[in-house]
Amino acid sequence: MASKLLQIKAISGHAGVAPGANMSRDYDVCKLVDTTTCIGCKACEVACLEWNGYDFQPTTFDNTYQTMPDTSWNYWNLIRFDEHVNEDGSFSWLMRKDQCMHCEDPGCLAACPADGAIVQYENGIVDFNQANCIGCQYCVTGCPFNIPKFNPTTKKVFKCTLCSDRVGAGLEPACIKACPTGCLHFGSKEDMKDLANKRATQLREHTAHQNAGVYDPEGVGGTHVIYVLHDINNPEKYGGLPKNPTVNPMVRLWKGPLKWIGGLGMIFGAVGIAFHYLRYGPKEAEIHPGGDRERN
Ligand code: SF4
Ligand code: SF4
Repeated sequence: MASKLLQIKAISGHAGVAPGANMSRDYDVCKLVDTTTCIGCKACEVACLEWNGYDFQPTTFDNTYQTMPDTSWNYWNLIRFDEHVNEDGSFSWLMRKDQCMHCEDPGCLAACPADGAIVQYENGIVDFNQANCIGCQYCVTGCPFNIPKFNPTTKKVFKCTLCSDRVGAGLEPACIKACPTGCLHFGSKEDMKDLANKRATQLREHTAHQNAGVYDPEGVGGTHVIYVLHDINNPEKYGGLPKNPTVNPMVRLWKGPLKWIGGLGMIFGAVGIAFHYLRYGPKEAEIHPGGDRERN
């Protein structure tokens, strides 16, 4: 079961076809976060730490209910709290579960030069393999969601794995299991999109949230973590969720055309040296009248 649910689709820095690529996928997995029913209890934060074996870290109080100012290499799941003043002057908490979005077109994987440091499975999960990570942090610049975080001690980068170990064994992610309100759901992408669209329609038809909608950004090919937002037109209000995230074109350039141009340059250089050698032969020492030797 594990091998079927975690068939590899793409590998960072890997020449040739990824092992297991083009095998049939059972289904795309997806996590649905309904921000409109999140109560900010942070059970998902605790579950994430416990399942992945990390301890709680000291934090700083900066006038918010957030546990940490930001996610970190050993804190992959953070509920962001934003105070929002509505048009009628009333006040709302906007709470969003922040973690890796498991992009269909992951900028982290596109940017990574290390063979096998980042793996995308056929079911949509994007996973890091720290054993192969060289600590260059290109994945950090490639991610439009500011997710991969560097551990300065081990010089490796970490992020949410979407509990690939649990999912590979047919289980739901730990955060989903812990959520007490039903704000988190897990299933196939198709089912989660369906559920999310129904919830957004319900909000538009029966509440004051006329702009409710589903966040599944096309710029990264869609994501395997999707949100229902009260206001789909302003995702930035939810802890800086980017409106139109895309993979930085420079990442594509240096991994695409520039890489090929560099490779061609090396080939032409080697051919030039070979021709020069065949035409002029090896360098020989010249003897000057004074007896000095000079290389030409
Ligand atoms: S959110 Fe960032 S780290 Fe996660 S898959 Fe997308 S690009 Fe990679
Ligand atoms: S730091 Fe990021 S980009 Fe660099 S090797 Fe590790 S995973 Fe790949």
